[in-house]
Amino acid sequence: MITTWQQQAATAGALAQKIRDDDARMASEHFRLTEFKCKCGCSKVYVVPQLLEIVEAVRKAVKLPLTISSGYRCVAHNDAMPGTAEQSKHCLGCAADIGIPSNLLNAAVMLEAAEIAVTAVHGGWHYYAAQRFIHVDCWPWPKDRRW
Ligand SMILES: [Zn+2]
Ligand SMILES: [Zn+2]
Repeated sequence: MITTWQQQAATAGALAQKIRDDDARMASEHFRLTEFKCKCGCSKVYVVPQLLEIVEAVRKAVKLPLTISSGYRCVAHNDAMPGTAEQSKHCLGCAADIGIPSNLLNAAVMLEAAEIAVTAVHGGWHYYAAQRFIHVDCWPWPKDRRW
């Protein structure tokens, strides 16, 4: 069964929850759920466990607080963003942009951690040097999932 990006994005959108800015729930050990919320004002968030594994692995390697500059994006927000991928994994809850802390002397530490973390879940990463962030992503569901 072939699942298109549109179907996956619709599923993620249906699963996304609306949350308040003061929602204190943790998505993982070091990150609050609100950090992954769409920034368009729709207040929706959806994030898959594999993505949280990646950001936690990077956080633990760097040993510094990290900022998620972009987590979940609703399709409308993604479409409105200039220069972003049309079929972004952010819309599937499978991607996060992690800012490189200004006090991290060696950014390579973070890239190495991202490489190890995404390899474990068959994901990917891209380093945006000028904007000082790393995009990490994973597959929407385990690849060996059977329908
Ligand atoms: Zn939105
Ligand atoms: Zn990204």
